[in-house]
Order: sequence, then structure tokens, then C-alpha cells
Amino acid sequence: MNELIPQSSKELLSTIGNYAKKLGLSAWVVGGAVRDFYLGKITEDVDLVFDATQESVAGFCVRTWGGEKHRFSQFGTFRVKLNNGLKLDLARLRKEKYIFPGALPEVTFTTQLKEDLFRRDFTVNSWALSILPETFGKSCDPYGAQKDIDSGLIRILHEKSFLDDPTRIFRAIRFAGRFGWKLAPKTERLLRQAVRDEYPLLVSRDRFCRELMKILEEEKIKEIFELLQKYDLLKFAWPNLKYHVALEKTQDSQVRLGILVLSLKDKGEDFLKSLRPTKKMSHEILSVLRLVQQEVCPLSPLSEYQRTLLQLFLPHLPSHALEPCFIHGRELQTFGLFGRRISGVLKKVRYAQWHGEISSREEAIKLIS
Ligand code: ATP
Ligand code: MG
Repeated sequence: MNELIPQSSKELLSTIGNYAKKLGLSAWVVGGAVRDFYLGKITEDVDLVFDATQESVAGFCVRTWGGEKHRFSQFGTFRVKLNNGLKLDLARLRKEKYIFPGALPEVTFTTQLKEDLFRRDFTVNSWALSILPETFGKSCDPYGAQKDIDSGLIRILHEKSFLDDPTRIFRAIRFAGRFGWKLAPKTERLLRQAVRDEYPLLVSRDRFCRELMKILEEEKIKEIFELLQKYDLLKFAWPNLKYHVALEKTQDSQVRLGILVLSLKDKGEDFLKSLRPTKKMSHEILSVLRLVQQEVCPLSPLSEYQRTLLQLFLPHLPSHALEPCFIHGRELQTFGLFGRRISGVLKKVRYAQWHGEISSREEAIKLIS
């Protein structure tokens, strides 16, 4: 009965299940974790659901294994980060009603696991296993998760799913790319329709950005971009956004974001700003964008992040292109240059250094005189 829960998670989940039983709760592991258990993949983020208030379970987990907890939504969901790296999301069973497409739903609690599973994105993520002692590992799979995982199919649970929450369009593509799965025929038809009707525009830019960043964290980035291109979804991220080969050369989502910005050339700045990056990230990426556009070496040392970004985006750049300019602007005065001529000459040196036409300070000085 309990063969789906891997050995490595048994102790943790049965300890939580025993505690839940003492409180008179029913408890299940649910969603992506069950999918990953079945696929034999390691999962570091485990969703648990309970049929009544589960608040004290979060405290119990922290007391037992060490870590920290915080409440992260108004629906009483707790996130527990354990010291061993595991992340638990503890939620109460709920159903959702979407009043406005793309907006957050109206949530009510339920005691029916089936209703909670029905509000989820795809059948493959709508599978639950009991963690109570006497039914440990017992499967609840009312919508055919196991069958769809076996056939590698992403299937929404009802016709209005993409309208209710258009972020699911991007989630569908992300999972299809990650696992090499296909969209079930009707899901594919509804997804295409959702794109034609521009449902992704119903989602706030903030929610959209979070989905985009999750995509940029994926290993199978090329496959996912191919699908985004196939279903004409990249335009919702930014007009003319395309896959760039450098994306595959790193797994760092921030570097990948930088690559996308650079690939958009003079439109890159607006794209980046629309994602509301931190000040630091914005500064780091935009200063690299300016170097690339002006084809000049930097004036001061680049950060590790900036170096990586440039090296990946322009792998054939001469190594000195990434180093600060051989000559300092104020030094140029000693060569008898003033005012505008200084910036003109400095630009000439920086351009030559970027293109590998000079490779030492001496050569830079020769260029000035
Ligand atoms: P990952 O492996 O990327 O973490 P996941 O399937 O675990 O994938 P999460 O974003 O961690 O996805 O969400 C956990 C679960 O919550 C999902 O498996 C799914 O059941 C449900 N879920 C998440 N986002 C949505 C959504 N937009 N609509 C409906 N259900 C969702
Ligand atoms: Mg998850």
C-alpha cells in the first residue's frame, strides 16, 4: 500500500501523519511531490494537505527537525523550511471559485480531498497519498494522474481551467518541456484557443514574471522555449523575444534573464524594467547591455555575474574586452587632451580594447598619440 512513498521520505511523513492523527486530522501528501515520487525523482518541496486547521503541525515540524516557518498566504498556508533543506507547504483542503479570469480566486475550505484535487492545474499534479498511520501511502487518484503520467500527458481538469488561471498555460509548457510530455489533445486545443484569445494578458505582470523566472530555472530550457515558440507564447513575455543559444550554457536563472535582456538589444531595457528587478540586478544587467551596444570595454572592473553573462553571451570576445580600460579618463589630461576630446579618445581606446585591436596599456598609449 505504501510503496509509492520513497524510503527517504517515510520517516518524516509518517512522523507528521502520527502527529496529525493525534490532533484528529486526516493528512495527505499531494501534488508535484506525489508525481515526483512516482517518477522516482528527488523532490525538495513537499505539499501536505489536512482536512481541518493544520496550524500546529508547522510548529511541530520545526520543533522536531529544526528550521523555520512562516505563514505565506491569507488561506492559512504555512511554509516550513527544515534545516535539512526540505521545504514543506502545509495547507488546509480548499476549493476555489474564479470570479474574474486571471485574478486570485475566492477560496473556501472543504473536508473533501477530491474537491481540493479538482482545483489543481493538471491531472498529473492532482494525486494524493495518505500519511496517516493506518492508511499510510494509500492513493487517492480520482482524475487519472497515474495513467496520464504513464502516457506522458498534461491534461487540465476542466474546460475553463486556462481562463480561470492563465498562468497554467505556462505551467503546462514548463512541465511538458521538463518531462518531455505532450499536451492531451483537448488541452492542446484549449491552450491554443487561450493564446488566440490572449488570456495571458489577464494575468498581472508580477504573476507573469514569477512564471517566467520559474521557466528560467528549468534544466530543459531549450525544449521549453521551443514549445513556447511553437504555441506563440513568447510574445507575452516581450515582442520579438526568442530563444538564445547561451541560455543552455548556464542553469542560473539570473544569468539567463541577463541573456534575454541582451538578446533584445535596444528593447532589452524596457523588457527588464517590466520585470521589476532589484536595483542591483537592474544596474548589473543594464551596464553590460550598454557595453554590448556600444562595443566598448568597461571603465571599472566587472562583477562575477557580469563577467559570466558577457562570456556566455559573446563567447568569442577577446579576454581584454572584459577588463577595465587600459587607460583612465583623467590620465588623458596628461597627454594634453581636454574636454570633449577626452571622451572621444577614451571611446576609441575602449572600442579598440573590446575588439582585441589592442592588448596592452602600451598599445593603448600608442593609439592616443
Ligand atoms: P515543481 O516541481 O516545479 O515544484 P509542482 O507541481 O510541485 O512543480 P508547485 O508550483 O510547487 O508545482 O505547486 C504545488 C502544487 O500546487 C502543484 O502540483 C499543483 O497541484 C498545485 N498548483 C500550483 N500552481 C497551481 C495553479 N496555478 N493552478 C492550480 N494548481 C496549482
Ligand atoms: Mg513543487
